[in-house]
Amino acid sequence: MRDFSQDHDWLSINTATVRKQSGQETPLGRIIDQCAARGIRAISPWRDQVAAAGLGRVARQLKAHGIGLSGYCRGGFFPAADAAGLKAALDDNRRAIDEAKTLEAPCLVLVVGALPGALDGKPAYKDLSRARGEVRDGIAASLAYAREVGMPLAIEPLHPMQAADRACVNTLEQALDLCDELDPQGPDNGSGAQPAALGVALDIYHVWWDPKLEQQIARAGRRRLLAYHVCDWLAPTRDLLSDRGMMGDGVVELKKIRGWVEAAGFAGFSEVEIFSQLDWWQRPGDEVLDTCIARHRSVV
Ligand code: ZN
Repeated sequence: MRDFSQDHDWLSINTATVRKQSGQETPLGRIIDQCAARGIRAISPWRDQVAAAGLGRVARQLKAHGIGLSGYCRGGFFPAADAAGLKAALDDNRRAIDEAKTLEAPCLVLVVGALPGALDGKPAYKDLSRARGEVRDGIAASLAYAREVGMPLAIEPLHPMQAADRACVNTLEQALDLCDELDPQGPDNGSGAQPAALGVALDIYHVWWDPKLEQQIARAGRRRLLAYHVCDWLAPTRDLLSDRGMMGDGVVELKKIRGWVEAAGFAGFSEVEIFSQLDWWQRPGDEVLDTCIARHRSVV
């Protein structure tokens, strides 16, 4: 397992972690400068932040600082109430793939969606298997284009508490079943294999509790493990979406899980992704980033 204690070469910052400080939106350009000042080598930005800053401008700024991406957030949200909605989702995912390509992201992260409208409290239907079917078809359609342009898609399984509104793919096993169905491939021989066209983004917040986690990480192997997101699970958790903990403040065995991921061949970034309305978003971004670096070295 890699030694993270001496530097933060493999730390990436998901820009949601420092975007909403004290209720103020921090522009992406400023976040990139803050990361550059600390020698952080990678970030994972969100589409709306990139759109607000300007895609070309963000690409140039990243290049000037020598900062890469550990992923691009995000595509997905495939299910819809009708054919027009399904088509709109595919069009939007195509644009997301193009943006990811411009930013030279290693993958586009997919939060696949669930019951359409549920996020706004108005689900258009309640048939979760229908939603899962639409997710499958949406990924299959997007994958054809993603392959054409060479942009790997990373399915992020979300904790089942978000099965109604954000993602109806809820375990690593379920995500890998989709990968095997839509992107069948031979076993990973471990020798310089290219990333799969379809893989997974493993976010410990969503999967840490899964009794099959170790087994499914081994099954994923290096070609399917496209991204690794860290934070911590606070006990008790006060808000289902926005009370993620800083690494070391919760109950997740971070080093143990990173050991499993690295044993499977993953050698990429540990991307810190913390939605924390009640704590870290109330602090100055500089303090949050300094803490991320310290915890990356000590507990990740
Ligand atoms: Zn994540």
